[in-house]
Amino acid sequence: MVDLHRFPNANGGETRTVHVREVGPRDGFQNEPETIPTADKVRLINSLGRAGFKRIEVASFVRPDVIPQLSDGVQVLHAIDVPDDVARMVLVPNSRGLDNALDEREYFEEATLFVSASQTHNKRNINRTIEETMTDVSAMGKRILAEDLTFCSVIATSFGCPFEGRIEMDRVLDIAEQFAEAGATEIGFGDTTGMCNPAYASRFFAAAIERLPGVEITAHFHNTRGQGLANAYAALEAGCTSFESSFGELGGCPVPAGSTGNIATEDLVSMFHEMGVDTGLDLERIIEAAAEAQATLGRKLTSHSIVAGPVIWSPSV
Ligand code: ZN
Repeated sequence: MVDLHRFPNANGGETRTVHVREVGPRDGFQNEPETIPTADKVRLINSLGRAGFKRIEVASFVRPDVIPQLSDGVQVLHAIDVPDDVARMVLVPNSRGLDNALDEREYFEEATLFVSASQTHNKRNINRTIEETMTDVSAMGKRILAEDLTFCSVIATSFGCPFEGRIEMDRVLDIAEQFAEAGATEIGFGDTTGMCNPAYASRFFAAAIERLPGVEITAHFHNTRGQGLANAYAALEAGCTSFESSFGELGGCPVPAGSTGNIATEDLVSMFHEMGVDTGLDLERIIEAAAEAQATLGRKLTSHSIVAGPVIWSPSV
């Protein structure tokens, strides 16, 4: 049977596989102006769970007074119903957050720790220096591994910072090595305010893959200046096979004020599928979940695929 959703030989007949992790329920919901009711969050996460994702970031253990949009994380963890092969991921900001997370140990499989590559951004974000954060990381990493959880990490502002400007590649990769030494099996590089470009993404991911053998290297691009997908393509061509994105392009960013945030999962997956790159995901279901999010918020989201739908290739072409 002809697969109408695949362009035949789009990639010269060779099939490549990548992993796309959905971060909308955390990174997306956190940065929308509204606080989404718990029942709606649960419904949307359950929809994503039926789209084939193997990993979904579902909650965060940040202080509720700091990020009220995610204050119902525990209720969300208790209520969601995703297939058994979907790893539920939580974001942990500090050891207090880890204490709270481990009280809910049976409700998730992976814990993500983060730091910013920019000293100023890190201080503004979590009120600690990078060095203080990384000291905590090695202690927290031990606790995460002792609980048989997968230890993931993210380095924010990896490609530039609105306060400090350019961040040296070596500085970012040094931090990445510290995460790897602490036992993290995955390191994500976040373009928190959309300052990367495709040429730099290409150089950066080639260097990261070379310096961090055996570690899953993940690209987390924002579409702040419309370059998110171009950056993802450049990372892919440099050998990156792991990506994070947010359905509906949910998740704005306060810097610059009113900016869009993460690239839309459905736009990323659509691009990969058209290129003959396999994601194992059901694009139509992701678009349905994104449209559901749009209806829930009651305003138009910036995802392209919600409007255009998937590409349907005619078998006669
Ligand atoms: Zn993001």
